This record gives sequence, C-alpha cells and structure tokens, in this order.
Amino acid sequence: MLRLHPYVYHRPRRLDEALELLKEHSGDVLPIAGGTDLVPNMKHGLFAPGHLVALKGIDELHGIEERDGELAIGAAESLTAVASHPLVNDHFPALAHAASLVAHPMIRNQGTLGGNICLDTRCTYYNQTHFWRRALGYCLKKDGDVCHVVAGGTKCVAAHSADTPPILMALDAAVDIASADGERSIKLSDFFTADGMWNKRLERHELVTRVRIPLPSPKLHATYTKVRERKSVDFPLLSIALAVELDDSGVMDSISLIVAALGAKPRVIGGLDKIAVGKKPTDDIVEAVARQTYRQCNPLDNIIVEIEWRRAMVPVYVRRSFNAILAEPRATA
Ligand SMILES: Cc1cc2nc3c(=O)[nH]c(=O)nc-3n(C[C@H](O)[C@H](O)[C@H](O)COP(=O)(O)OP(=O)(O)OC[C@H]3O[C@@H](n4cnc5c(N)ncnc54)[C@H](O)[C@@H]3O)c2cc1C
Ligand code: SF4
Repeated sequence: MLRLHPYVYHRPRRLDEALELLKEHSGDVLPIAGGTDLVPNMKHGLFAPGHLVALKGIDELHGIEERDGELAIGAAESLTAVASHPLVNDHFPALAHAASLVAHPMIRNQGTLGGNICLDTRCTYYNQTHFWRRALGYCLKKDGDVCHVVAGGTKCVAAHSADTPPILMALDAAVDIASADGERSIKLSDFFTADGMWNKRLERHELVTRVRIPLPSPKLHATYTKVRERKSVDFPLLSIALAVELDDSGVMDSISLIVAALGAKPRVIGGLDKIAVGKKPTDDIVEAVARQTYRQCNPLDNIIVEIEWRRAMVPVYVRRSFNAILAEPRATA
C-alpha cells in the first residue's frame, strides 16, 4: 500500500488567508486544488510538504464569466465545468474539447484548470514509486544526481503533460497570479520554461488565480489534438494546438501552432507567419507547415514510447489539425 506522510491540511475560505499560509509555511507547504496529481505524487514520495493549503473552498478562485472583452475562468473551476460551460463552448470549443480529453470523468470532476496549468512535469523515471526509483538510483529531479533520459545530462527534460495549456497558449490566454506580496499577470506563452525540475515562472508562494482569454474574432478557428495510447485515462504522448484566423476568402490572417508533451515547455513553432499568412491552407501550404513543425520537434526518451514514432506523428497531427479546422462550417466559407 502507498501511504501518505503526515501533514496539516488548511482550508482557508478567502484568498488572502491562503496566501498568508503559503508565506508563513514557506518551504514546507504546497497548494492543493483537486489533488488528482499532487496526492499520487505524494504517495510516490515525490513531495512531502508539512502543510497543504486547499484552494477549492475559496470563492475568489471560482467563476466563469465574460468581462472587458475577455473570458475569465477561476483557477479552481473543475475541468468538467470548463468542458461543459456554455460560454467556453460558445467562444472556445477547442478549450472545452481539450478539457474533456483529460483523464476520465471522475478526475475531471475533481481536477481543476489551475491544477492542470501548474501540473508537474512527467517522466518515465520520475512518476514511479519510491521503491522503483530507489532501485534505479533516483534521478536529478528527485533525490539523485543523474538523468536517465539524457546520458550525462545536467538538466531535467521531463515532459510538460497537461492538456489545456497548449490550446490556451494558442488562444493568447494570460494567467493572473497572486501572492501575499501582490498580484501580477503573465501571458501563458511566457509562463513555461524548458526546465523540467520546475517549468513555470511561478514562485512557490504564488497562486494562479484566474485564466483570461481574449474573446475571439469571428475569423478565429482553433483545434486541439492529442496522441495517446488509449482513448481514455492517458496523458498525451504528443499534443498539437492550432489557431488560425481565416478571412472571408479563406486566406490565413494569422497562425499559432503549439506542440506539447515532448519536453518541459510547450513549443511555439516559429517561422509559420512567413509560410502561411496571406495564403490559403492548400495541401502545399499545410505540408510546408507540417515540415516546419517536424524540423522543430525532437522528442526525448522521457515517455515510454519510441521517440522516432512520436516524431513521425508530428506532421501527421499537423495535417489532422488543419483538416479539423477546414471541416468546420465557418472555416469553409
Ligand atoms: C490516472 C490519471 C490520468 C490523468 N490524465 C491526465 C491527462 O490526460 N491530461 C492531463 O492534463 N492531466 C492528467 N492527469 C493529471 C491531473 O489529473 C490533471 O492535470 C488535473 O487537471 C490536475 O488538477 P488538480 O486540481 O487535481 O491539481 P492538483 O493535483 O491539486 O495540483 C497539481 C499541482 O499544481 C499545484 N496547483 C494547483 N492549483 C494551483 C494554483 N491555483 N496555483 C498554483 N499552483 C497550483 C499543486 O501544488 C500541484 O503542484 C491525470 C491524473 C491521473 C491520476
Ligand atoms: S528527465 Fe532525467 S532528471 Fe528529469 S525526471 Fe526524467 S530522468 Fe529524472
């Protein structure tokens, strides 16, 4: 049986109380939202904080509403709420779809959008029991001094494995962040770093409080596709978020393509404006986008699936993403 260590569980009702608790117990505390990732990780001995600060009972972290030209979603909203809310489905069906692809219904009922954004990176050699990791001699990310993915590596390259951030990045979302010392906001595309040890620009005493997404123009078409072994309860092996703006004649005014689940940071594919903007998504252009994406993606052995296969799937899923967008009635005008 995998046991939890002893800890004090705090249930603040207000955001300021939660932030004070995080400050007071700094170094020995973690926030917990749905706990669907944190609790298994604690059972595996990956984290052992003396204090947990529960977020779901805090009203300020809830709510899904339109305001000031944006859709604002509280960090403690469940993934089920995000996937089923009429405002999310009206404005951002691709986000609702991405949320609906996380794990299974029970986890989506319990897991939150904030927890998904702050999800720890994952690796074959890390997300294991303490017994398993000890037998291997641990690794850089926890208790050890070697990386089993990159021989001689000095940096953790565990994979960003959350489903909602790539599409939120493609939709130009920002997150609001609070601590006992103040508030700030950051675009999600600037939020992640390539460091698998801690891949977020988030201090340990800070909380993500809200996600804000600019309301889309009628020209915007977006899609999220996820490669996984089974059709349910599987983290992504590779995921692609694509957002394009198409004018009335079907010409692309903008393009944003994010590939995730390969390294610690979702990758924004560069150089696509030159290839695609001002052009229609014909087979040739889609192929050029697929080639450019392939060139910039180099999967690592951090997930137990062949890296060559994962790389070969990149252009396949770029094509599928365009097909999904072009199949929308609005996109074929
Ligand atoms: C069997 C299984 C399958 C899964 N499949 C998927 C999947 O397919 N796709 C996927 O994306 N995820 C998957 N997950 C992971 C997880 O369930 C989801 O990512 C979920 O959204 C996490 O949300 P949570 O509220 O439960 O986070 P928690 O477990 O409560 O927290 C996760 C991390 O985020 C921190 N945190 C939480 N909220 C905040 C906040 N507001 N501000 C700052 N830090 C915060 C916590 O301290 C912790 O480090 C799976 C989990 C399991 C057990
Ligand atoms: S990438 Fe290397 S250091 Fe990071 S979790 Fe995996 S084995 Fe450990």
